Amino acid sequence: MSTSIAADPSESIAPLTRRPLALSPSRAGDFKTCPLLYRYRAVDRLPEPPSAPAARGTLVHSVLEQMFGRPAAERTPELTAAAIGPAWERMAQEYPELNGLLPDDELAAWLSSAQDLVRTYFTLEDPRRFDPEACEFAVEIEVANAVPLRGFLDRLDLAPTGQLRVVDYKTGFSPDPDFEARALYQLKFYALMIYRLRGVVPAQLKLIYLADGMSLQYAPSESELLSFENGVVALWAAITSALETGNFPPRPSGMCRYCAHQSVCPEFGGTPPPYPGNPGAADSAVADPAVGGPAVDDPAVTRPVTADAAFDV
Ligand code: SF4
Repeated sequence: MSTSIAADPSESIAPLTRRPLALSPSRAGDFKTCPLLYRYRAVDRLPEPPSAPAARGTLVHSVLEQMFGRPAAERTPELTAAAIGPAWERMAQEYPELNGLLPDDELAAWLSSAQDLVRTYFTLEDPRRFDPEACEFAVEIEVANAVPLRGFLDRLDLAPTGQLRVVDYKTGFSPDPDFEARALYQLKFYALMIYRLRGVVPAQLKLIYLADGMSLQYAPSESELLSFENGVVALWAAITSALETGNFPPRPSGMCRYCAHQSVCPEFGGTPPPYPGNPGAADSAVADPAVGGPAVDDPAVTRPVTADAAFDV
């Protein structure tokens, strides 16, 4: 496994790095939402402007990651919130495109809002009570039918009992109950990767929403992950077919209002650029520009969960 500053592919401003073609939760969501959006992000790799919420998400994720690198006694709300300013300075240096994202007179309030999110984290967990197995790490693995999966996990916890917990931080608000299943798609995707990587079904999947201090927990079963894997295999087959034919139809929805590619979308009077071809060749690659909230269908069922206390030591 490798590490990365990219926190949550749906909220981060990760750089465009060339990687082999693979399916991530974000790209899976893109294809289900709109095949043309998938093409523009995964195949054409059209640039998308950074946004202040995405930058704040990356900033908060990186500070929480750094926190777990400190001794347990130093994982306090005060020290962690104080790390926001220096972390932002490092981000702005590393990603010059972030400079100018916010007017100077709004930066202080924006940084303060990031500190509020960090403080909210401490109302949900006590990071002095456990050490994560890993933070902010990339996983790449082939699952059934040699389908390549890729994802970044915010945190993986290992309980003294040997149980695994997958944790994902969201800097937005918790979803309405009708949308919880969609929110869990990403975690189930990661649970499948961990299951195939280690042969163990994670005991708990946990989404932490820092904007409203809520969390969503779910305990998958092996049969559910196998069923989920079948869905991933079918989705990859559909994507592979589209890559071979170049047929990526637009699918207009409410997501269009957040789409950065309206100017080249037929639904908005635009003309798509010539299809660059299937990037699946050995010397080809796709980037994983991290943007957009997936709108995916996933028949997740909320189940009893393993108590958080099992992971406290
Ligand atoms: S504007 Fe809507 S239909 Fe067009 S590419 Fe974007 S998401 Fe798809």
